[in-house]
Order: sequence, then C-alpha cells, then structure tokens
Amino acid sequence: MQVRITVSFPYEAPVSQSLFDRASAVTPGGVNSPVRAFRAVGGAPRFMVSGAGPYLTDADGREYVDLVCSWGPMILGHSHPEVIAAVQDAVARGTSFGTPGAGEVELAEEIVARIEPVEQVRLVSSGTEATMSAIRLARGFTGRPKVIKFAGCYHGHVDALLAAAGSGVATFGLPDTPGVTGAQAGDTIVLPYNDLESVRAAFAAHPGEVACVITEAAPGNMGVVPPLPGFNQGLKDLCASNGALYISDEVMTGFRVSKAGWYGIDGVRPDLMTFGKVMGGGFPAAAFGGRADVMAHLAPAGPVYQAGTLSGNPIATAAGVAQLRLLDDAAYEKVDAVSAEVRGLVTAALAKEGVAHRVQAAGNMFTVFFTDAEVTDYDAAKAQDSFRFTAFFHSMLSQGVYLPPSAFESWFVSTAHDTAAVERIAAALPAAARAAAEATA
Ligand code: PLP
Repeated sequence: MQVRITVSFPYEAPVSQSLFDRASAVTPGGVNSPVRAFRAVGGAPRFMVSGAGPYLTDADGREYVDLVCSWGPMILGHSHPEVIAAVQDAVARGTSFGTPGAGEVELAEEIVARIEPVEQVRLVSSGTEATMSAIRLARGFTGRPKVIKFAGCYHGHVDALLAAAGSGVATFGLPDTPGVTGAQAGDTIVLPYNDLESVRAAFAAHPGEVACVITEAAPGNMGVVPPLPGFNQGLKDLCASNGALYISDEVMTGFRVSKAGWYGIDGVRPDLMTFGKVMGGGFPAAAFGGRADVMAHLAPAGPVYQAGTLSGNPIATAAGVAQLRLLDDAAYEKVDAVSAEVRGLVTAALAKEGVAHRVQAAGNMFTVFFTDAEVTDYDAAKAQDSFRFTAFFHSMLSQGVYLPPSAFESWFVSTAHDTAAVERIAAALPAAARAAAEATA
C-alpha cells in the first residue's frame, strides 16, 4: 500500500515527496529507522543527497544547517577530508575479510586509552548489539536474570529493553513492546529516572536476582535529561552493595561530550560501558567494554557467546580511528562553544516571543523542551507542549535549518558549525519562535 502524507506547508519538496512515495511502497513507513520519518511533525521527510561540513543538501537541491549530525556521529561535520581519506585508503585495500585486522586493534586501543574503566573492549556493528551483548554478559557473569532500566532511556531495540523506551518509542507514543513476549520482558524492571529510592526498593524486592542496572550515562532519548547530582554514583553504589553490575550506556554521549564521554564529566566508574555513533565516524561500528574480569567471560575467552560477521569491519574501523584521533581537547572546546552559542540564541528568541521553554544540556548535547518546568524524568518530558515544537520545527526547516523531527531528541552540533552556519540559525530563529508562540494544540 502506498502511503502519502499530505500536509500543506508553506514550502514544497517535490523530489523528496516522490522518493518518499516510492519508499513507502517498498518499506514500512517509507524509512529504515522510525525517527527519520516526519510522523511526529507531519510532511515528507527530506531525502538527503550530500553533506559537507555543517550542511546537508536534499534531493530538491535545498541546503540546511544540520543540527542532527546523523543523530550524533558526525561530530567533525560531514565529509571531513581526513576521515574521507582514511576511508578511501581502507576501501582500496578491500571491504571485509572475516579475519582479525589491524584496524580493529587500533580502534580498541583508542577506546581503552581514552576511557579508563574500559580495560577490554569488543567491537560490534550497532549500539543495539552493544547493549544486548552487555546485558547478556552481565547475566552470564552474575548468573542472575533481572535487569533494571529507566523509563525514557533508550538502549536500542533490544527486546528486553524496549519497555518504556525513549527515542522513537517516545516520539510515536507506541504501546510498550508489541512483538516482545512476556518471557523476554518479564525480567526487565522499569523505574522512573533520577529516582534512587525506587532503585533501592527494587533491589530490596528482588534480593540476589538483579544482574545489572543499565542507564544512559546522561539521557538524550527523552530529550536531554541529565542525571541529578549523585544519581549515577548512587546507582553504582547500589549495584556494588547488591552484587549487580552497573552498565553505563554511552552510545550517544561516548566520545561526544568529552574525550572520555560522560565518564569524563562525572567520573563515576561503570563495570561495563557501551559505545556507538561517534566511534564509527559515520559507519556502523559500536562496542561494549569494561572490567577485564567481566569481559573475560566473553567467547572465545569465556562461555558467554557473542559474534558478528562484520564486527570490526575495516572501513568502519578506519573511519572511527581517523575521527577519534582528530577529537582532541580543542575539538571538544569548539563543539561545546557552538552548543552554548546556539542554546543562547534559541533561549533569547523564544523568550522574546514569551514562549514557555527550557533548554536542557548534558555537555554539548541539548534539547529545547516547550515547558517551564525542569524536566527530570520521562513523565515531565511528555508533559511539554509538543505542538509548539512542531510549528517551530517546520519554520526552521522552511528556512534551511534541519532539526531532529521530534521534541524528544537531542540536538547535535559539530566542529564544522562555523560563524556562517550559526548566523543562519540565528536568522531563522525569530520567525520560528513566533510560529511556536502562535501554535495551538
Ligand atoms: N543506546 C543509546 C543511548 C542510543 O542513543 C542508541 C541510539 O540512538 C542506542 C543505544 C542504539 O544504537 P543503534 O541505533 O546504533 O542500534
């Protein structure tokens, strides 16, 4: 069945629309990852054909300042010459060998050198695989079944972790886990974020049964909701005193908010960590790692099985190594500065129009919530005026600024967001803020 979403907006994207029509005929919802569709905001998603620095160009030839950055990975901007050169060099030598390769060692060494709690690391191809494998390892290591996760945290589409998940699950208000059996989700305990008391109570209610607590190091998938002071340390301590592992999911924050990710900011030492996005330089590369005594349980060193045909792919590892090596202190200072500047501009524009809003940041990741109240958990995130975001989003899009098409996502900037790009954002904001002010539910 062909689905055509027709919404009238003050601008058209006929080539994207026609690609979307074709895509919808052959792919569910016309996209290969739900949040790429514009379902939450309406209209046809823009089909991009190229990216350069802070800009994307769509199939209709329109250029946008990109504030999504491929949902995080493109921290150096698009088509960074040194990353492209590394990829070209690797691709000329072959695309996959199914054997170990030097690139895997280099990428693993880069990760271990940056993130002190990671003594050993295993490469995989997606963040979903990383969290799925980390949970299996935690269960295998502890011999316990249960997993504690937090409402609004997204850890990929792992069956057991889709309960009250953020990201697309939040965007579309999906009922929890259709297609996931009771057996798969039955050992998942979902608790409110930033609520240590509920974690303490869950450990007390299930003595000796909890294998691990998994949390986003600083959540970005219900919008950016940083941990309250002491929350991550409290989780770590509760895990330690109850014989469970503390898994910090840094797929989004890892190598993005600092050289050592969120760990580099809060210093709370996890037993296991998961990574993705930035470490792949725009290619499918992800990882999980941590305590050597725990990682030693992984096959072939130990009994917990985990594998992947394309794990440690030579192109992906070449891109990842090149990107990580370019991410020095100066690069993070630049990304942090651009983030602060854009946050300031958005705040000023919305305040001028009297729009209730709150810009929340975790390092250089940030979200604009359309509410006055501080957002500390998923319920508070859902209470925002999402309809104002929709108006804001379309105004920005029509003026050439590409925001995440959902009120429940982080915005991302890069080292390539220069003065010209920021000026374009600044020029678009007054009309977008006005549109947000005038929007009705
Ligand atoms: N964990 C977190 C914190 C994420 O943000 C994501 C994706 O956005 C994932 C895991 C899943 O990663 P992937 O989409 O590569 O499977």
